Amino acid sequence: SDPIHVVGGGLAGSEAAWQIAQSGLPVVLHEMRPVRATEAHQTDGLAELVCSNSFRSDDADLNAVGLLHQEMRRLGSLVMRAGDAHQVPAGGALAVDREGFSRAVTAALEAHPLVRIVREEVEGLPPEEWGSVVVATGPLTAPGLAEAIRGLTGAESLAFFDAIAPIVHRDSIDMGTAWFQSRYDKAGPGGTGADYINCPLDREQYVAFIAALVAGEKTSFKQWEASTPYFDGCLPIEVMAERGPETLRHGPMKPFGLTNPHNPTVKAYAIVQLRQDNALGTLYNMVGFQTKLTYGEQVRIFRTIPGLEKAEFARLGGLHRNTYLDSPRLLDATLRLRAAPRLRFAGQITGCEGYVESAAVGLMAGRFAAAERLGHTLAPLPPTTALGALIGHITGGHLSAEDEGAPRSFQPMNVNFGLFPPLERAPKAPDGRRLRGPEKAQAKKRALTDRARGDLAAWLGEP
Ligand code: FAD
Repeated sequence: SDPIHVVGGGLAGSEAAWQIAQSGLPVVLHEMRPVRATEAHQTDGLAELVCSNSFRSDDADLNAVGLLHQEMRRLGSLVMRAGDAHQVPAGGALAVDREGFSRAVTAALEAHPLVRIVREEVEGLPPEEWGSVVVATGPLTAPGLAEAIRGLTGAESLAFFDAIAPIVHRDSIDMGTAWFQSRYDKAGPGGTGADYINCPLDREQYVAFIAALVAGEKTSFKQWEASTPYFDGCLPIEVMAERGPETLRHGPMKPFGLTNPHNPTVKAYAIVQLRQDNALGTLYNMVGFQTKLTYGEQVRIFRTIPGLEKAEFARLGGLHRNTYLDSPRLLDATLRLRAAPRLRFAGQITGCEGYVESAAVGLMAGRFAAAERLGHTLAPLPPTTALGALIGHITGGHLSAEDEGAPRSFQPMNVNFGLFPPLERAPKAPDGRRLRGPEKAQAKKRALTDRARGDLAAWLGEP
């Protein structure tokens, strides 16, 4: 039969292509790298991780993204398989060796007999004769295609902006000042409880650091950027610093759950954490340090952090574009563009946020496209599952009739328990006691993830 076309070999497109091929249908995957580069990708590998190397929490009982990992594994996700195979230690998180991970995804797709990979830019709308297409071109969708989509959707704007964090060579960090420890000594998959490198600042150093961030020279704003909003999960540190002197100390620089072995009696006022970035453990990224300071300023200011005085940077932070649709209004329940149903969207361009979420939406887009071609009807995903909650958020499962004409307020979003339908009954302690505080919050999360597992099993037709 005719192949299904997937445009974009990132997290979403790679997963979509895999799911289509695994359902027995031929697929052509169009990836523009290395013919044309993006502002952030550095390799020609499929599923390249452009910034952090973390898939975040792997806790399927208490964390929504951990639950999403588990659901994706159950649906045969290639991204999760490659991620699991290329794990590096990261406390309770699933972090991966970015090169090994991308190589594994690329190799699996190249080896699949039903997958053909074409290295070319799709410069405008995919040709009609391609029939069913999954568009998964991501936050950095090439301008020609982005413009064509904008023309088709009539959207005012498709883009806003975002920033990435620097990476440091491990052997340039002074371990006489810094130390290894995970917050509260938490050990995750493959971890030891001492996975992060911590750099302590006293009060005076912190105050000077904040002042330097605020005064530091920033990369200039292009015109379109001035009106493009940030979203809170990825604020540049200098923007956080501008919000108030204590903001960073309560965010990425919080000092809690860590004890400096070089100086155990004195509590640090603030701490900068670095997380292992590659399997060899030679590179560490600065956690939460996305920034739009100029390169020169980053080197100067970050070297004032104790332990990083001689830091050598493998990559500095920077600004980037983010392209996404107003999906709740533009897409139907199976991710097809209402205005042109032969086009289905997946990944960050649908307004999910994050590597895992992008791959998850790719997984479902691939399954929807394959079911449609095979003439099957896929029962709607239960909204109580992480996958269902995420797709519901994107396709407007949450929109009521009154919302239809309302102004745009759709924001890219990580998967979180707020997207799940509430529990029918508050969970109780085994002895019937009413739960309170953190105990209650934990019990709720457990109840939500238990419900999700049951509903996913039922959806999969498992006994
Ligand atoms: P991508 O992975 O970007 O894949 C899209 C692919 O489409 C690319 O390979 C691109 O080359 C290709 N392409 C684009 N246009 C065309 C075209 N016209 N024809 C053919 N091919 C095309 N998420 C996190 O979880 N953690 C982070 O730390 C993080 N940092 C980010 C930093 C930056 C700079 C950016 C841009 C995003 C970041 N994200 C992060 C968000 C997001 O999760 C990732 O961008 C993720 O890779 C999105 O997956 P995707 O498949 O939608 O897009």
